[in-house]
Amino acid sequence: MTECIPVKQRIMRGGDSKLNVIVVGAGLGGLGAAIAILLAGHNVLVLESASEISEVGAGIQILPNSSRVLQSWGMRAALAVHATRPKQVNILGWKGNLISSMNFQDSASRYPGTFYWDFHRASLHKCLLDRAVELGATVRCNSRVVDVRICGTGKEARVVMESGREIEADLVVGADGINSKLREVMLGREDPPIPTGDLAYRLLLYTSEMMKDPELASLVTDPQVNYWLGPDMHAVNYVLKGGKLFNMVLLVPDDMPAGASTLEGNVEEMRALYKDWDPRIPKLLSMCESVCKWRLCIRPGMDTWSHPSGAFTLLGDAVHATLPYLASGAGMSLEDAAVLGECLSRITSKASAEKQIALQIYENCRKGRTEMVVQRGNLQQYLYHLHDGPEQEERDRRMRMVPTPPGE
Ligand code: FAD
Repeated sequence: MTECIPVKQRIMRGGDSKLNVIVVGAGLGGLGAAIAILLAGHNVLVLESASEISEVGAGIQILPNSSRVLQSWGMRAALAVHATRPKQVNILGWKGNLISSMNFQDSASRYPGTFYWDFHRASLHKCLLDRAVELGATVRCNSRVVDVRICGTGKEARVVMESGREIEADLVVGADGINSKLREVMLGREDPPIPTGDLAYRLLLYTSEMMKDPELASLVTDPQVNYWLGPDMHAVNYVLKGGKLFNMVLLVPDDMPAGASTLEGNVEEMRALYKDWDPRIPKLLSMCESVCKWRLCIRPGMDTWSHPSGAFTLLGDAVHATLPYLASGAGMSLEDAAVLGECLSRITSKASAEKQIALQIYENCRKGRTEMVVQRGNLQQYLYHLHDGPEQEERDRRMRMVPTPPGE
């Protein structure tokens, strides 16, 4: 029988120990923060700039660390309905030669009760939203926050919305993503994200077409995550919705005009980039009719995540957006949320210095790990995109040396 991760029970509190918290941004990190803070016994209002709550993009991989967090929030059953559990990850050369494999079940078994889960983003997002609302979150759309001001006794903050409306809270959590306005408010200056030189094409195919071709059908019937590594580019695929959808992400040199973050892509240009790769990739790309491309940027971290008042902090991509090459950006946002919730669960009086201390501990727990993930993402970019030659051969040799878990 699979071991279960203990589910956190909601702390009951009242009076001076109950904080009114505003979370800015209803993305994966913001909704995770709402859940964790509600479980810590506080009130949460989520303000989202978009006109409706939705998630763009196609697939998302959830690794054992964040599957543990999601289960601790009581979401295991709701998520299991939508999750695909891939059997293994294969690292391939760009011509399709197998470099190495890792069995996911054996790997996750080192962390009992955890999983490798693949989701359609919209499913994961909806489960987080449902759980936040079930726990008592108020979520308001059309609420773009443009400023945060410290007010009251210097221990509260007021958010200012684009509409001119202002709302006060004991704590404001900026979870407004990679293009974060609240990060700039915290720093007191403009601070755009840093382009990495890569962009991503993200596509989703119905597997019914693929099943007609035996070479492609094997990518569906035996759910696996595949990484193809090649000169200056790589490609990743995994299946979603129990094999109904095929998710593919192509990571290539950035050719987008300055200032753009997302654009409609040219399918012919995309196909041309991969025409000499593993023949399955051109076949897959021939099934795609339209595509979007996303500039990939990073945020290497911040010296300080919180305002000294203890009334304003940041979380997720707003602080430490990373290249998606470790499939860990959302996982880091969910971990941030869990740690922030844990720190705020210890508050006994909002009038005391406990809020400042809680935010300091939150930052101390998260800073080193998230900065390491951003740096490792940059290193993966270098390693994944090596040109054929001695360095690439040495990379492949080392990848083969990684001990294969038992059961392979
Ligand atoms: P977001 O999800 O961006 O949410 C920010 C929210 O804030 C949005 O809803 C936005 O509308 C709102 N907002 C913005 N400004 C304001 C404002 N001023 N006022 C109010 N609301 C505002 N991560 C993984 O863990 N696994 C993966 O497999 C994975 N794959 C990826 C593949 C690609 C191609 C990319 C680009 C990323 C991938 N990631 C992955 C990373 C992951 O998507 C992000 O790290 C994660 O979504 C960050 O969550 P967040 O809540 O911090 O920000």
